[in-house]
Amino acid sequence: MTRWVWRILFVLLVLVLAGAVVFKAFQARIGAAVFERTADRLVGADQTARLEDGLHVYFCGTGSPLPDPTRAGPCLAVLAGETALVFDAGSGSMRKLARMGFPMGGIDHVFLTHLHSDHIDGLGELILQAWIGGSRTQPVPVSGPAGTGEVVAGFGQAYAIDATYRTAHHGEKIANPQGFGARAAELSLPPGGRVAEVFSEDGVTVSAFLVDHAPVAPAFGYRVDYKGRSVTVSGDTVRTQSVIEAAKGTDLLVHEALNRDMVAVMAEAAADNGDVALSKIFSDILDYHASPTEAADVAEAAGAKALVLTHIVPPLPVGLLKPAFLDGAGGHFDGALRVGEDGLVVHLPADSQAIGYAHLLD
Ligand SMILES: [Zn+2]
Ligand SMILES: [Zn+2]
Repeated sequence: MTRWVWRILFVLLVLVLAGAVVFKAFQARIGAAVFERTADRLVGADQTARLEDGLHVYFCGTGSPLPDPTRAGPCLAVLAGETALVFDAGSGSMRKLARMGFPMGGIDHVFLTHLHSDHIDGLGELILQAWIGGSRTQPVPVSGPAGTGEVVAGFGQAYAIDATYRTAHHGEKIANPQGFGARAAELSLPPGGRVAEVFSEDGVTVSAFLVDHAPVAPAFGYRVDYKGRSVTVSGDTVRTQSVIEAAKGTDLLVHEALNRDMVAVMAEAAADNGDVALSKIFSDILDYHASPTEAADVAEAAGAKALVLTHIVPPLPVGLLKPAFLDGAGGHFDGALRVGEDGLVVHLPADSQAIGYAHLLD
C-alpha cells in the first residue's frame, strides 16, 4: 500500500476515536434529550385519540398459567367507541395494556370469564390503575360468575392499606377514597347456551354465554357488539356449541388454544425427570381446553371472519414452533387465522368490513 492510503486510514481511525470520545462525553446529555422528547410525546397523551370510530381489540395477555417470557396472563381489552372494557386481568397484563396506550383511567367495566387464578391475578393492579389514572369517584364495576364478589372483596382488602398511602400522598382529588376498589356484579346466565345481554351503554352491548370448562363452573364467554362490528371471546373452554352460536357471523373470534400433543410431551418429560405432581397437572389440563384445530372448527362453524388464538399452551419461545402448535389448524378455517401475541391490536372500523392488524409492543 502506498503512503497515502496509510495516511487516509490513520485519519479515519483518528476521526472514529474522536467521535467515540465525543459521544462518550455527551452520552448522558444525548440520552436525556431523547428521554425528554419521548416523554413529551407519550406521557399523559391520549394514544387512542387518532383511532377511527369502531372496535379496537387489544391483546394484553395471550399466555396461560405457565411461565412464558413473552406472554402475560390472559387479558383482552376492547375499546368500543369511547367505552373501554377489559376481559380478564392475568398477571403482568395491566403493565402491557398501559404500554399499549389503552386508557387505563377510563376503564368503564371489567368482565371476568371465570375465577381461575391466571385470569384474575392482575386484578389488584387493574383496580389501582383505574382508580388513580382516572381520579375515579366510583369503584370500577367488575362482572363475572358467582364468587366474583368474594374475589373483588379480597383484592379490595389486600390493597386497602396502599390506598390510604395514595390518598395521603396525592390528595383526595386524585386518590378519592370513594372511587377506590371495585364493585362486583355476579351474573347468572340461562342454561342451554343461550346468550344474555349483560351490558348496554352508548351503543355498546356485551352479551355473556356459558362455556364448558368443567370442573370450573360457571365459566363464561362474551361477545361485544358496536356499530355493526363484533368480537367474541371464548374464555377457557373445550370446543363447545355455545361459542359457535354466540359467535355467529362475528368479525373476530378470540379463542383459547392448547396443543395436546405438545402438552403430553411435557407431561412425559416431567414424569421422566421425577416431577410426579407436574406430570399429573399437565395430564389433567388436557381435558378442559380446545386445540388449535378445534378452535378453527368453531370459527368456521360460526362463520367468523377472523380468528386469533390466545391462552397459548404450551409457551412458544421461538417462532419455529408455531406451525407445530397450529398442527394444520389453518386448513380448518377459511378466514384469517393468527396465533395471538401480546401487543397485537385488531382494528374493526365502524360500519365496514375492514379488519386491520397492528403491533404495539416490540
Ligand atoms: Zn386459563
Ligand atoms: Zn381456566
